[in-house]
Amino acid sequence: MSMDKARAVSSPPPRIHATVSSLQNWALWQEKPRVIAYCLLTEIIAVFLTVTLFFQSTVTGRDFLILLALLGLGVLQAELGRQVERLRRRVSGVAHINMTSVWIFAGVLVLPPALTAVLTATLYLHLAVRSWYRLQRTPAWRTTSNAAVLILTCFASYTTLALTGVDGMRGALGLGWTGAGVIAATIATHFVANALLVIPARNTIARSVTGLFGSPMDNMLETATLCLGTLNALTLATLPGLTLLVLPPLLILHRGVLVKQLEVAATTDAKTGVLNTAGWHNRAEVVLERARQRDRSLGTLMIDLDHFKQINDSHGHLAGDDVLRAVATAIQHEVRERDIVGRFGGEEFIVLLPDIGERDAMAVAERIRAGITRLAVEVPGTLRPTTIDDLSASVGVAMYPESGGELQELLDAADTALYMAKNNGRNQVIRVGALGMAEERLAS
Ligand code: GH3
Ligand code: MG
Ligand code: MG
Repeated sequence: MSMDKARAVSSPPPRIHATVSSLQNWALWQEKPRVIAYCLLTEIIAVFLTVTLFFQSTVTGRDFLILLALLGLGVLQAELGRQVERLRRRVSGVAHINMTSVWIFAGVLVLPPALTAVLTATLYLHLAVRSWYRLQRTPAWRTTSNAAVLILTCFASYTTLALTGVDGMRGALGLGWTGAGVIAATIATHFVANALLVIPARNTIARSVTGLFGSPMDNMLETATLCLGTLNALTLATLPGLTLLVLPPLLILHRGVLVKQLEVAATTDAKTGVLNTAGWHNRAEVVLERARQRDRSLGTLMIDLDHFKQINDSHGHLAGDDVLRAVATAIQHEVRERDIVGRFGGEEFIVLLPDIGERDAMAVAERIRAGITRLAVEVPGTLRPTTIDDLSASVGVAMYPESGGELQELLDAADTALYMAKNNGRNQVIRVGALGMAEERLAS
């Protein structure tokens, strides 16, 4: 036997070879072992339970018709919502708003478990192909894993129904308040099971409550879709023709979420994440009005980086942007949650400190100044990363009501103080009084 023939016999057929090498290239293998294990485990359990439950349950022709209706509506809603999603990505780059619970949770209440699993998998496949992959390049493994987690969530909800012996929405209809209670318990199970099941699939497990369970807005939205899903199931169990009525409010809800994101995008400085000029002014006017009514004092800090132009000149504009982000973070680190931090373009930051006296405002300004001098920002250099650690800033402080009664007067006063700080040699905090005179100086 020649060598070539021997190789031909021992190497696998081309199709198997191609399958093996594409398996090796899966993006999933780049993830943490914990994530890989959890994804594979949930997928295997979801498929196993779906197949087992399929053979255990009796599926009627009516069930198939309902499945088709929910699938059709789910696909239609996703298609109609695509324009909103495109807009959302342009304004904020935030992940897709997932409203599939409206159809999938309705499935939990009116379909046998296996069909709800099929519904979930098909809706996710459609969204993955039409929206997620094209709009945000979500990898296939993510979609598969999310679908598996959702299928397991649905099975958890079915367990509540099974434990109470209620046959979904149709069974609940004949039970009055008890039926309503069981449906409410099923909603609660679905909500909690989903919140818990998604945690191990995340790349990084956050320590904060918001990081673990999402923002209040995310949770309100999930609750809203579960409520609509329940009403959807109610019509499917009574007057199925009216199920179409769920679609318009759902599309409006989808747009409503966009409004909030547009609002955030319109008031945020994209580079640093703090408020932009318009956003800062809006918030500051409200706080100033409250201070007037309650006879409280306010601090205004104007912070300008020293010789920032040199940083741009020697490290490049992108490195300068990294520095701006680090400075914004440093400022936020030194102030309270309710203090209002903004960037007025360039390398100038502004902070409004509600309910604060002169001494404390000066102390905050000084902490910010000192914090900036301690910064060490690593930036990508031409050959290797360099660290910028010679930063400093000058800070001008103005107090309400001493330095001015209107926001613009406060800003002008803080600007005057800042100008003095620059003239005095930079890297210092200066407060200005009612007459625009430097009253106090905190030198480094
Ligand atoms: P001074 O100590 O007097 O404040 O000196 P300076 O160099 O900081 O002041 P100047 O106002 O002359 O320069 C500000 C520089 O900030 C000029 C501009 O190129 C740069 N700059 C403004 N906006 C941005 C930005 O968004 N990113 C970056 N990287 N640089 C910016
Ligand atoms: Mg400057
Ligand atoms: Mg400047």
